[in-house]
Amino acid sequence: MRSLLLHLSENKRLAPLIMHNAVSRRVARRFVAGETLNDAIEAAREVNRAKRSASLDLLGENVSDEAGARRAADDYLAIFDRIAREKLDANVSLKLTQLGLDLGEPLCQDLLEKIVGHAAELGNFVRIDMEGSAYTQRTVEITRRVRSRFTNVGTVMQAYLYRAEQDVKDLLSVGCRMRLCKGAYKEPLDVAFPKKEDVDANYVKLMKLLLPSGIYHGIATHDPAMIQATKEFVREKEIGREQFEFQMLYGIRTDLQEQLVRQGYRLRVYIPFGTDWFPYFMRRLAERPANLTFFLRNLMPLSGRRHSS
Ligand SMILES: Cc1cc2nc3c(=O)[nH]c(=O)nc-3n(C[C@H](O)[C@H](O)[C@H](O)COP(=O)(O)OP(=O)(O)OC[C@H]3O[C@@H](n4cnc5c(N)ncnc54)[C@H](O)[C@@H]3O)c2cc1C
Repeated sequence: MRSLLLHLSENKRLAPLIMHNAVSRRVARRFVAGETLNDAIEAAREVNRAKRSASLDLLGENVSDEAGARRAADDYLAIFDRIAREKLDANVSLKLTQLGLDLGEPLCQDLLEKIVGHAAELGNFVRIDMEGSAYTQRTVEITRRVRSRFTNVGTVMQAYLYRAEQDVKDLLSVGCRMRLCKGAYKEPLDVAFPKKEDVDANYVKLMKLLLPSGIYHGIATHDPAMIQATKEFVREKEIGREQFEFQMLYGIRTDLQEQLVRQGYRLRVYIPFGTDWFPYFMRRLAERPANLTFFLRNLMPLSGRRHSS
């Protein structure tokens, strides 16, 4: 089911059907803060009130024309201005395919540098999300190049990738901040660990490489076992709670978010917003069968009632 949903997340014909359906729009709102920047700002304010940091993500990927990539870059400049004006504790997460990576690296890098430069002037930070494995090498290379000019940029490592350990070591050697996650895309067997237990073991291994580095990293997961392993490791190595942060997605495991904050850990909430929410929504459905069941039950309320009566 996970594979099927991830496959469907790239289906351009299904996207408008789901996105214009009232029920899916309602269910998607659990994971997406809204369609406008104002919605995202309001969500970030709420997250900050709950003593959590935020990372704003303007949804969009695989932009296929230069004008679209430039528009996305302008939007990100405006997002940083708004964060500064509102004095929010928030940075930004973006995808390189949103900045035209499919159209060529020079355009993408140029737009990224504009955004990172602007963020630097405002004392803020840009996180480059990691997309499917077709983009890993280019994302790592662009991150390294931009990181050599600006220190306020970092990327993401996906523990399901066999190559992640080497990438972590390479990026640590240039002082790069990283977010560690498990990985959300459909990947072939020769690229990624197929079994959850192997992904989890690699996650813990990479966490143990990242956290003693003295660089500020993000441990992004909702998995209590990964969180527990991190807590135990930092206790054992006497790594301070201000030296890293946990990260979770908007609308997911808010109970766990609250618990971590109560225990004195730093927590950042990733807040996606925008009209292009279909692929993000499908990846969230793919991660948890219960999400799909909830969605389908809402989509077919009458048949559900018939069965239960
Ligand atoms: C802040 C952040 C940024 C991310 N950035 C990227 C990125 O750049 N690139 C990338 O490939 N992936 C990214 N991801 C997604 C990540 O790779 C995983 O797909 C996702 O976090 C699920 O993995 P998990 O660590 O929560 O563990 P899992 O083993 O998948 O889940 C553990 C538990 O968490 C809960 N949970 C997990 N997902 C959901 C969900 N969708 N709905 C409800 N409950 C859920 C369930 O209780 C589940 O049992 C990011 C995740 C986070 C938290």
